[in-house]
Amino acid sequence: MSDIRVRFAPSPTGPLHMGGVRTALFNYLFAKKQGGKFILRIEDTDQSRYVQGAEDYIMESLAWCGIQFDEGIKEGGSFGPYKQSERKAIYQQYAQQLIDSGNAYYAFDTADELNTERAKAEADKSSFAYNHLTRKQLNNSLNLGLPATIKRIEAGDSYVIRFKMPDTPVDVPMKDIIRGDVTYNSANLDDKVLYKSDGLPTYHLANIVDDHLMQISHVIRGEEWLPSMPLHVLLYQALGWDAPQFAHLPLILKPTGKGKLSKRDGDKLGFPVFPIEWNPDKGESARGYREEAYYPEAFVNMLALLGWNPGTEQELFSMDELIQAFDLERVNKAGARFDPEKTKWFNHQYLMQKSDETLAAEFMPILESKQLYCDDKTLAQMIEMVKERVQFVPELWDQLDFFFIQPKEYNAKMLKKSMKGDALELLEELKTLLFSQDDFSSQNLEDKVKTWIESKEIGFGKVMNPLRLALVGEGKGPHLFDILEILGKAESLQRIEKLLNHSNDK
Ligand code: GLU
Repeated sequence: MSDIRVRFAPSPTGPLHMGGVRTALFNYLFAKKQGGKFILRIEDTDQSRYVQGAEDYIMESLAWCGIQFDEGIKEGGSFGPYKQSERKAIYQQYAQQLIDSGNAYYAFDTADELNTERAKAEADKSSFAYNHLTRKQLNNSLNLGLPATIKRIEAGDSYVIRFKMPDTPVDVPMKDIIRGDVTYNSANLDDKVLYKSDGLPTYHLANIVDDHLMQISHVIRGEEWLPSMPLHVLLYQALGWDAPQFAHLPLILKPTGKGKLSKRDGDKLGFPVFPIEWNPDKGESARGYREEAYYPEAFVNMLALLGWNPGTEQELFSMDELIQAFDLERVNKAGARFDPEKTKWFNHQYLMQKSDETLAAEFMPILESKQLYCDDKTLAQMIEMVKERVQFVPELWDQLDFFFIQPKEYNAKMLKKSMKGDALELLEELKTLLFSQDDFSSQNLEDKVKTWIESKEIGFGKVMNPLRLALVGEGKGPHLFDILEILGKAESLQRIEKLLNHSNDK
């Protein structure tokens, strides 16, 4: 069995941005390719940022995308619990271990005291950091000594536990699968809080402890976590554990290529940035790809190519193909520009791959919602004629509406252009010709009408434009003889009659 174990570790602070979905996807593809395990861990230690419903939203979004977990809060597994708020008891002992080994210390500084330090630094045109230099003057166990510290803790004084960066700065060597070898000097790192006054660990401590206990082999996450990597590497060292391998995924950039695609961009730029709709009881709602009629396969395919490339020209990938082709080595460092138009293009490709019968079944509820009816077979025939022109199933309505509703008015420009000269008489003649046909199949009508037009030695458009206007009301629409066949003789003749009356009235 493979030792590969990766996790998606979202914090339930709101809806999951599509960048988060991509992180989950890359973890999933990597795990499946290697025959490893994919784990969902909910990182909810920051109670102040907890948002009701976010956890369910995350699971529903990923399920919609076809991204499945092997272990998680729903799936269970032998490394649980998979929710950090249910693992509180575990973290304390590791915070203690870090204190005992001299890698962490208690700090009693109040918010007011820290604000004073910040203000002082600002007055000196610098910024305050709780670090290897400043900690010597601050209110912590390093300066108080053990007896005084114990006294304060026993007296119930509020404290946090901070990581102690090396007294003498060191270079922290780091390896990232995507970015290669990087070194960061610890002089630039502050003494991060590991354990908060509310008795809960911060993200950093809980994340490292859980990745270790859950035997995570690879940490694959967004670039925004890159600055935390040196701290994490030092934490693994301090705890005496081997660090997992890291891979920090590139940012997803706005369509302009400038700046990170943010949660707010969807509203501003007119496309969803969330996989599914977010509708909280309180607060702002947000649009989702699912509700805008994207196929999850198209959404996933698009996401996979944001920052990864297969090294070939292939663009369309099923989930299984992605699993086969995926390789972290082919993930770019540079940010990946999001292209909403290309996303629509993907949807069109997936739509074209579906059978007409499937599309008919998907479109039927839309028809029914308009109190209209059509049998499956005819609807599939109609869809076959127009599907090339749409990107989404609901758009089929704009292409097919004339089949269900007689033109109420005629395109003015077309009317002027096509109903001039002897157009009326020709349409009358055509009506008679159509009336005399027992076989109302597209092919037969095409043969008969063409022969008639040729015998009259007139242009094809002279007859076909008025006919299109009569049947559709405007210049658009699929092959006219197919339309005639589907509308049937009675309906077609009625529509021609209507246009004749309309033009005679003028
Ligand atoms: N809880 C972090 C987040 O919300 C996880 C970062 C990580 O994967 O280490 O993105």
